[in-house]
Amino acid sequence: MKKVSEALSIVLESSERLGSETVNIDAALGRVLACDILANRDLPPFDVSAMDGFAVRSADLPGTLSIAEDIKAGDIPRIALEAGWCSRIMTGAALPQGADAVIRVEDAREMSVEAVQISLSVQPGHDVRLRGESMKTGDAVLNAGTELTPGAIGILATVKARQVQVYRRPSTAILSTGNELESIEDPVAPNRIPDSNSHALMAQVQALGVEPVLLGIARDDPIELERYLRKGLEYDVLLVSGGTSVGVHDYVRPTIEKLGIEMKFWRVSMKPGHPLAFGVLMRSDGSRTLVFGLPGNPVSSMVCFEEFVAPAMRNMMGNSRLYRRTVTARLLHPVRMKPGRTEFVRVALTSDEHGYLASATGTQSSGVLLSMARADGLMVLPAECTGLSAGEQVIVQLLDGTAFQDDLRYRE
Ligand code: AMP
Ligand code: MG
Repeated sequence: MKKVSEALSIVLESSERLGSETVNIDAALGRVLACDILANRDLPPFDVSAMDGFAVRSADLPGTLSIAEDIKAGDIPRIALEAGWCSRIMTGAALPQGADAVIRVEDAREMSVEAVQISLSVQPGHDVRLRGESMKTGDAVLNAGTELTPGAIGILATVKARQVQVYRRPSTAILSTGNELESIEDPVAPNRIPDSNSHALMAQVQALGVEPVLLGIARDDPIELERYLRKGLEYDVLLVSGGTSVGVHDYVRPTIEKLGIEMKFWRVSMKPGHPLAFGVLMRSDGSRTLVFGLPGNPVSSMVCFEEFVAPAMRNMMGNSRLYRRTVTARLLHPVRMKPGRTEFVRVALTSDEHGYLASATGTQSSGVLLSMARADGLMVLPAECTGLSAGEQVIVQLLDGTAFQDDLRYRE
């Protein structure tokens, strides 16, 4: 039996980064850059005005200046400023030759269309954005390994990187197993259990930016299972839920091994998620399929996905942030615990002026999916923990849906 950290190291060692591919900038959100992106020009390309006002020679101030011309954004200034002259200028417009500062319209008194009085004196560079202030030609503005956020996409557009090299996403297949399962299309039958795992796992995969394929439901029959697993091995990642335990009809592990997949481990010291199996199929061309035998219980399947599959898939896609963000929270109630296994407790998070508050979302049975549906995070209790009192500090991994909150909670 592996500790969670040991199992995680094995999974990460086996999940090599995939190769790269070219994508269009407008389809690149969430992808990870496979190359450095260099600035293709100085930006701004010339000294520009940061304000609407007057481009001046700072040495002339204070004083009354003659107005040489009007310079709008995008114009090329025609007249170099000589002593006693200035030009009306708009935000973002190029400074004329000779000018070294800008005076805001609010700080100038226009005597006529031809003259302006400025009683201020300023240093050179005042309200000027210097050439190359944002970036200089050849600067690495984004490095390989950067996850493309909307801000980073804006930078790609700035340097005219219309096509970019990003790491490939793993092709992913999902298979449910169990005689008792009915699919979402099947009518409700008295002796059946709805297949929720296929769809919850699909959503978890989609949340990583990957569109998986649902293979369906394999019955607890070694021949049928083998047929489905063979299809699943055409993908980079195969997620199989159910049938990994030690029951006589749990055929997933023996069938996986029969197909030449090297079993790396098949039990982890965690709750929920104990009967997690992991294997790798290595092919002669160097390609591989990672096979995760996830426990059938709906919560176990989802928790194992979060703790092992998500880091593996993010690793394959070139992400350097592999793990769920953790926050510290104070417990709102005591928890009892049997020591021995690392526990992942489904919690809701609220907050007060001192930070986060965590409370369990209900019964922690691994079959009760509602408590997962209501969870903002997973509170992680170390294996040796025997219990905690209300008010104690705990670590909580944030789940999807927690990047936004329902009130502002900052002071202006
Ligand atoms: P197993 O791991 O096959 O022993 O299944 C453990 C429990 O999870 C059983 O109660 C199954 O009915 C349930 N289960 C297995 N697969 C699924 C699934 N795809 N969706 C919902 N529940 C499942
Ligand atoms: Mg089963």
